[in-house]
Amino acid sequence: MHFSDLGLPEPIVQALTKSGYESPTDVQAEAIPAALLGKDLLVSAQTGSGKTAAFLLPALTKMGERSKGSGNGPRVLVLTPTRELASQVEKNAQVYGEHLRWLRTVTLVGGASFGFQTRALSRPVDIIVATPGRLMDHMRSGRVDFSRLEMLILDEADRMLDMGFIEDIETIVAATPADRQTLLFSATLDGTVGRMAEKMTRSPQRIEI
Ligand code: AMP
Repeated sequence: MHFSDLGLPEPIVQALTKSGYESPTDVQAEAIPAALLGKDLLVSAQTGSGKTAAFLLPALTKMGERSKGSGNGPRVLVLTPTRELASQVEKNAQVYGEHLRWLRTVTLVGGASFGFQTRALSRPVDIIVATPGRLMDHMRSGRVDFSRLEMLILDEADRMLDMGFIEDIETIVAATPADRQTLLFSATLDGTVGRMAEKMTRSPQRIEI
């Protein structure tokens, strides 16, 4: 199978080829077509499975379509448990989106300049990659506009819960539009993470790798 068989546009396929990706991994082959159809997804996949591209490629593809909303706010929000993972996700978005000249990404994580992030939020942004705590700080100061948000992605949801982020995540999800698409990735979909996932998705497709 090839990436173009999954419904990804040529500029993205070219960037993948340049990165040395020859064919989709299992999680990519299952998640990308379903996400492009607009479905909510609950995906159990480990680090190393290619899960980052499994959510970024459909997100980038859908943003190539015209935004339905107006304003500066993000069209895609990715929540991650750690700063390191957030930077990795933003870096991958820039690699896969190399030929998407309109693409603007912002990372909101602790330990980095609040003022710099605030200035970035005053300009139009397509993708925000954030850890829950720092995103909440910006939301409390009224600087995050979710009115344009189309897609919410939770990466390593089980780790975010282990780190005590459940209340922050619930507050963030409640602030996003109800008609958003939600993609949740986690090592496990049992217990607390499964219950949280059910509450924040609509008729989700489960993908277990
Ligand atoms: P992840 O599971 O998202 O952390 O990805 C693990 C590693 O696999 C990263 O270094 C990716 O750049 C790489 N990767 C992801 N998808 C593919 C693919 N289809 N072909 C080759 N490498 C990939």
